[in-house]
Amino acid sequence: MTVPFGDFKAHVAALRGEIDAAVSRVLDSGWFILGPEGEAFEDELAAALEARDAVAVANGTEAIQLALEALGVGPGDEVITSPLTAAFTALAVQRAGARPVFADLDPATLNVSPEAVARAMTPRTKALLPVHLYGHPVDLDPLLELARTRGIPLVEDACQAHGARYKGKTVGAISGIGALSFYPTKNLGAFGDGGAVLVNDPDVAGRLRQLRNGGQTDRYHHVTAGINSRLDELQAAVLRVKLRHLAAWNERRRAVAAIYLREIEGAAVRLPEEQPYARTVYHLFVIRHPRRDSLATALEERGIGTLIHYPIPLHLQPAFAALGGKAGDFPVAEKAAGEILSLPLYPELTDAQAREVAASVRELAGRA
Ligand SMILES: *Cc1c(COP(=O)(O)O)cnc(C)c1O
Repeated sequence: MTVPFGDFKAHVAALRGEIDAAVSRVLDSGWFILGPEGEAFEDELAAALEARDAVAVANGTEAIQLALEALGVGPGDEVITSPLTAAFTALAVQRAGARPVFADLDPATLNVSPEAVARAMTPRTKALLPVHLYGHPVDLDPLLELARTRGIPLVEDACQAHGARYKGKTVGAISGIGALSFYPTKNLGAFGDGGAVLVNDPDVAGRLRQLRNGGQTDRYHHVTAGINSRLDELQAAVLRVKLRHLAAWNERRRAVAAIYLREIEGAAVRLPEEQPYARTVYHLFVIRHPRRDSLATALEERGIGTLIHYPIPLHLQPAFAALGGKAGDFPVAEKAAGEILSLPLYPELTDAQAREVAASVRELAGRA
């Protein structure tokens, strides 16, 4: 039995009828950018994820960038985030004109540690940007307290955590503002690129609607230097279909994870631990093993696909060399980057496939 890391053909097949109908509706409407599908999607998304408003944009990177810009973050400002995340998190900070500042991780969750964030703060810190990594919520309360004391905003990078809950609340706009990505592999993914900002302040929502559309108030009236970051009607229609399945898909992800947790327990790997404050949605199921590369190779030989999220901490990436980071700066992130391995996990994965993966990990982890 082979178990690919992802299976989009199975995903599309399960939805084909609903998707075809949605796509046909848009084609028949003759309206492709900023129209009724996008508006309906924004309303449905905000309602599903417990935000006052949602502003759909072209991708998750620009959702982060525009959220920061709408809050007034720009050149000369520092934004504290994680060194172990999609590089796009920190690239978005740079695109907003600000400087990413990294803070080391809590070894239990691999999310940023509030103590490390506190140590990284300077008089130039203008926003906090924690990431709900792998679908597991970051411990928000201490970070919100830090932000409140300093009078600065906290933007949630919820690009991996659609529907996850922190102390009973859906993440994304618990702080008042957060970013989502609809990259195809995300828990809620388009058939192309897409993103959204969840936001509770109507003024900020208004600024975001301007910024994503060239800074226009009305057509041809450009009041700020915005960009083109619009979600098209086809993707919005697809996302409306998929949003209806999100809760069930997240439950299925948790059920697959439960098989992994039960059947890998006791093997020579470190398993993810859901914290008491969290209800994770397992965007990724990430184990840790000291000889990760040989374990990945051995699984590959059995037809089991794995990936590494992420092999190089951001402070060691050439794209961020100007920030002056060096090996040893963030020991928890650096150690994790050498040990983490993402196992296949998606709603279409069968119980039999999950058991096969678990049995292989058990058997190979001891030998790898
Ligand atoms: C996917 C992702 C992004 C970027 O989203 P895109 O839609 O690919 O631009 C940002 N942050 C995190 C944590 C992500 O997983």
